[in-house]
Amino acid sequence: MEHTVLVTGATAGFGEATARRFLAHSHKVIAVGRRAERLEALKASLPAEQQKKLLTLVVDVCDSAKVDALPKTLPADFANVTVLVNNAGLALGLEPAYKTSIFDWDQMIDTNVKGLVHMTHAFLTGMVERKCGHIINVGSVAGLYPYPGSNVYGATKAFVKQFSLNLRADLLGTRLRVTCVEPGLSSGTEYSNVRFKGDDAKAAKVYENVQALSSDDIAEAIYWAALLPPHMNINAVEIMPIQQSFGGTTIHRGEL
Ligand code: NDP
Repeated sequence: MEHTVLVTGATAGFGEATARRFLAHSHKVIAVGRRAERLEALKASLPAEQQKKLLTLVVDVCDSAKVDALPKTLPADFANVTVLVNNAGLALGLEPAYKTSIFDWDQMIDTNVKGLVHMTHAFLTGMVERKCGHIINVGSVAGLYPYPGSNVYGATKAFVKQFSLNLRADLLGTRLRVTCVEPGLSSGTEYSNVRFKGDDAKAAKVYENVQALSSDDIAEAIYWAALLPPHMNINAVEIMPIQQSFGGTTIHRGEL
């Protein structure tokens, strides 16, 4: 089957790799992001036959009105979205909760939670009516395991996990599928550059002497889940690089 895949956050990292992956296998892709020049560059880098299968859309997923109206604005040959990859998201800061900016918290909630929820709501009804659809949400191991400085970021990703599971519960009796992909440490994206607000040296340190996951690794997992036989639903895929594991609980000793 030829899929029509809408990928949010397709201007960089996982989203761009996912868009390229589906296009390389002759599926249609709607690439969504805020940076028009990145979307144009993505299109320009593709062979002509893939360019015809790509629709680029400048959309801020936090613009709820625009997102809610999105399905009705799509051209007919891209209108029947079969796979929605809710990938757009960000972490801002790594400070303890009492030192963070409330504006950073708002932006993470607006993007990772409200943006994802509005995109899902916008496309869900059409998918149910057409009896065909797969919602793939990009969560994170930060939604599963706490770590210092993860505060609101990790909480938004825990939301993504539980929302995905709850969607599955509501969609029982339909043909729709829902998957939550939960990556661990991944390099080659802008994630840490965004988290550290352009401090690229600090961002680079995160990946020092580690073979992290790559965008292609995550695109591989997304593609795999989407192309499985239609009776199979992958509820969640938790992926870490072999050089990442768990730290356990911590104890502060002495005076408080
Ligand atoms: P990148 O920063 O490389 O990509 C993030 C993408 O999200 C960009 O394309 C950006 O595009 C888009 N985006 C951000 N805000 C908005 C918005 N308001 N509206 C539309 N698009 C937006 O990061 P990654 O590829 O690493 O991350 C992708 C997802 O994976 C995120 O949800 C992240 O939380 C998650 N993740 C990342 C991990 C990692 O270690 N890298 C680990 C686990 C999860 P633009 O700026 O053009 O709008």
